[in-house]
Amino acid sequence: MDEKISLLASYIKECENIVFFGGAGVSTESGIPDFRSKDGLYSQDYAFSFEKILRSSFFYLNPFVFFDFYRNKMDVRDKEPNFTHTFLTTLEEKGKLKAIITQNIDGLHEKAGSKNIISLHGSIYNNYCIKCNKRYDVNFIFESKKIPTCSCGFPIKPDIVLYGEELSIHTLSLAIEKIKNADMLIVGGTSLSVFPANTLLSYFHGKRLVIINMEKTDFDKDAHLVIHHKIGEVFKLLSQKSV
Ligand code: NAD
Repeated sequence: MDEKISLLASYIKECENIVFFGGAGVSTESGIPDFRSKDGLYSQDYAFSFEKILRSSFFYLNPFVFFDFYRNKMDVRDKEPNFTHTFLTTLEEKGKLKAIITQNIDGLHEKAGSKNIISLHGSIYNNYCIKCNKRYDVNFIFESKKIPTCSCGFPIKPDIVLYGEELSIHTLSLAIEKIKNADMLIVGGTSLSVFPANTLLSYFHGKRLVIINMEKTDFDKDAHLVIHHKIGEVFKLLSQKSV
């Protein structure tokens, strides 16, 4: 492990345009379950599969069940950033890290103080009426009973990308541009199994690709360095190497 941490430290020292691309595994150390680990949300019991509840069509056909699940499982307002979030904020402040591209919807990178965040799948903190587009606060959604409803009478939808919905072209283009210009890409806490987020790696042509994930991914073979370990612990060891 020590050898890998030293290698990672040397990569960070030699690179000036680093991009971090992360997923749910970044926030598990803040107490938010991911989807696909053995302790993840998919492993827990619920009447419907999570993939089904989080489909766009399910939201429109069964908003009552959707919001029951949403309030029970996705209210992470009380969660705090962990070492990974704050480490990335520091790396950005040092001018090394140019962007965080995240699949997470929990707002923890913002809470940690990072500035250049591209949220591919939206955020629970943004909510809008499906009819008149009026914006609503996150507390309004989680504190409402049954289906949160706009003053115009239509349901309010969290501005998150549900299964079956397309990512914003603008957001995707921004992410592609950052990755194309990067000399180092650190991928962390993602199974890289969600399309089209997982296609982003193909735009990277820089010097160093690093993957830090508890489990193997299909992209491990393309990386210069792979670490199968908790990302927060990896970054703690890294910070001891004065990175
Ligand atoms: P995923 O659940 O498919 O994969 C998470 C990966 O992270 C797993 O491979 C797991 O081994 C790894 N992991 C878990 N804890 C880790 C840790 N401490 N250190 C290193 N690796 C760790 O997640 P995904 O790839 O992000 O895709 C799932 C989708 O679900 C995304 O679209 C995401 O938006 C959404 N999601 C978001 C949150 C959140 O906002 N916190 C939580 C669950 C799911």
